[in-house]
Amino acid sequence: MLTNKYPLGFFPTALEKMNNLSEKYRDYQLFIKRDDNSGLASGGNKVRKLQYLIYEALNKGFDTIITSGAQQSNHCRQTAAACAQAKLECNLLIGGEKPKIYNGNLLLSQLLGAKIHFNGENRKGEDIEDLKIRLEAEGKKVYVVPYGGSNLLGAYGFVDAVKELKNQLTEMNLKLAIKELAENEGILLDPVYSGRAFYGMLDYIKSQKIKKGANILFWHTGGLPANFYYSEELM
Ligand SMILES: *Cc1c(COP(=O)(O)O)cnc(C)c1O
Repeated sequence: MLTNKYPLGFFPTALEKMNNLSEKYRDYQLFIKRDDNSGLASGGNKVRKLQYLIYEALNKGFDTIITSGAQQSNHCRQTAAACAQAKLECNLLIGGEKPKIYNGNLLLSQLLGAKIHFNGENRKGEDIEDLKIRLEAEGKKVYVVPYGGSNLLGAYGFVDAVKELKNQLTEMNLKLAIKELAENEGILLDPVYSGRAFYGMLDYIKSQKIKKGANILFWHTGGLPANFYYSEELM
């Protein structure tokens, strides 16, 4: 039984056939699941977890969120947006030193009103407990969202995702030897997650590691803003 969730995204996200790539790699039919279009401050998969986590925080009377991540964390950007919608104070513990200029996800998190704390080499949220104690001393009720939103409650978001996919496959009369992979036909990937996954998928296709005639699904998890941070590498 799934617990209640706070609505933050646009679901179901589209499941589309990639016509151009299916023509190019004739032995396969390629599909894409568009979690990059899930809404919430330019989309991504983290909104699926945040719907459950934010619901719990509100339901239990918390007013302040802490989470952590890298400077280009999609999770932090989407948490900042979720907090803005739910009227929760958002504190982000960000790895590394404060950069002169904010870019990509970090810039968006700041625009979304998050309080940003830089924690140097403590890149995995080691300072969360200290910050929590400090904020509680100010009378705030603090809820900690784990790194990446990844805990049991957050994982409910992907139970939803699989149900959503099953319904879409039934509607489209499709069966997949499911492969989670990457793509590109007028669709933007990101350099950290989906770009690598897409490269891996093409490698599997080109080296025919996937059985001919298979239907292949690439699950696009979002991450668009990080492209702007890596602009030099992408030019
Ligand atoms: C966080 C993230 C992932 C990984 O998702 P998990 O649920 O944390 O495994 C993949 N792609 C993008 C774009 C992400 O931001």
